[in-house]
Amino acid sequence: MIRENYREVDLKVKEACEKASRHREEVTLIAVSKTKPVSDIEEVLLEDVLDFGENKVQEITQKYEVLPKNIRWHMIGHLQKNKVKYIVDKVFLIHSVDSVELAKEIEKEAAKKNVHVNILLEVNVAREESKFGLYVDEVEATARTIALLPHVHIQGLMTIAPFVDNPEDNRGIFQKLKQLCVDIKHKNIDNINMCELSMGMTGDYQVAIEEGATMVRVGTGIFGERNYNR
Ligand SMILES: *Cc1c(COP(=O)(O)O)cnc(C)c1O
Repeated sequence: MIRENYREVDLKVKEACEKASRHREEVTLIAVSKTKPVSDIEEVLLEDVLDFGENKVQEITQKYEVLPKNIRWHMIGHLQKNKVKYIVDKVFLIHSVDSVELAKEIEKEAAKKNVHVNILLEVNVAREESKFGLYVDEVEATARTIALLPHVHIQGLMTIAPFVDNPEDNRGIFQKLKQLCVDIKHKNIDNINMCELSMGMTGDYQVAIEEGATMVRVGTGIFGERNYNR
């Protein structure tokens, strides 16, 4: 079931790429496995998938222990400073950096372990009260400060779009994040790469791809509904 779901989502990613005249290789489909057991991840591994998304530090460290070491773990959830030390050397990319203070903590722990950490800046494009992330007008200044940290490397931007029934309602959000990315890229700031755009989830990833997403984060569409009460 999970494997079939994965293939179906992968096909829809392909279709969205074709519609937007983009190459399939430009878009990474991240399987968001939060709350799901290791056995579910093992099913997806059979499809040669290596990119998995998690939003809790403890879940990443537990799954990291028992699963193949070539998995690329994407930290997509809010990250507390005191937990940075547990994952800096285990994650492929941290999507959810939303403050200079958090970036400085990542720098400190990365330097200790002598690793380099790739990050995205999380942007609250829709200015939703309930969400984390920088406001659009704060992003450039924050990026310039973080760019000075030698072990932290900004690779792009991430957003969690509002929950909507019609994915078209989020098209403008995705366009805004893309535009912000292009604007910052044109400034050619040292130690900032503006290549990655992490946007789009189960409900709207095709629209996100049409608007330039390079990473889509799909959970429910692959693993089914999550049960938080277990
Ligand atoms: C849970 C989560 C997703 C996946 O959501 P689905 O709607 O299940 O695809 C994507 N991004 C973030 C940041 C998440 O926390």
